[in-house]
Amino acid sequence: MIIAVTGTPGVGKTTVSKLLAEKLGYEYVNLRDYALEKGLGEMKGEELELDVDELAENFERDFKNKNVIVDSHLAHYMPADLVIVLRAHPKLIAERLKERGYSKAKVGENVEAELVDVILVEAIEENENVVEIDTTGKTPEEVLEEILDLRRRGVKKRVGLVDWSDAYDDILPYLRL
Ligand code: ADP
Ligand code: MG
Repeated sequence: MIIAVTGTPGVGKTTVSKLLAEKLGYEYVNLRDYALEKGLGEMKGEELELDVDELAENFERDFKNKNVIVDSHLAHYMPADLVIVLRAHPKLIAERLKERGYSKAKVGENVEAELVDVILVEAIEENENVVEIDTTGKTPEEVLEEILDLRRRGVKKRVGLVDWSDAYDDILPYLRL
């Protein structure tokens, strides 16, 4: 089974994916590292530009019928049995990315993406089985428990959970207006 963990940068994908992989005994795959290993994509300045179709074809060849957790903001483009979209209040995203040393423009871009559900919408377009998890105010362990609980209950679709429109005033300073 392939489980994709996706979401806006800073939302907690890597932290949660590693916990989940360990708990389930699945292989953990960071998509960026995998692409670099395979010689896929092209460096454009600091950023690795990836052709998602090419990436998905390679990924399918290498991981079909294996048990993997794939971690990336592009993970929902991989052939997955389940897509987990992690969400967090845009202010948390802003603070984490600032801490990470992202430029003001990069922070703004990602805060806006979280605000308007960009990755959730992409995921729903790509896959039938999408579950959304609001991580705001939760520990990584609590998020892990929520994922395991959905799994136990066989929930394969749960979307429309968050609405950050009330967050707008809080995050105004971060937006690229
Ligand atoms: P991403 O891979 O999505 O960019 P990371 O997992 O690298 O995100 O970073 C998320 C940061 O947020 C980590 O420092 C992590 O400890 C912290 N964090 C706080 N609460 C949570 C949570 N509930 N789930 C995941 N990460 C959390
Ligand atoms: Mg990460």
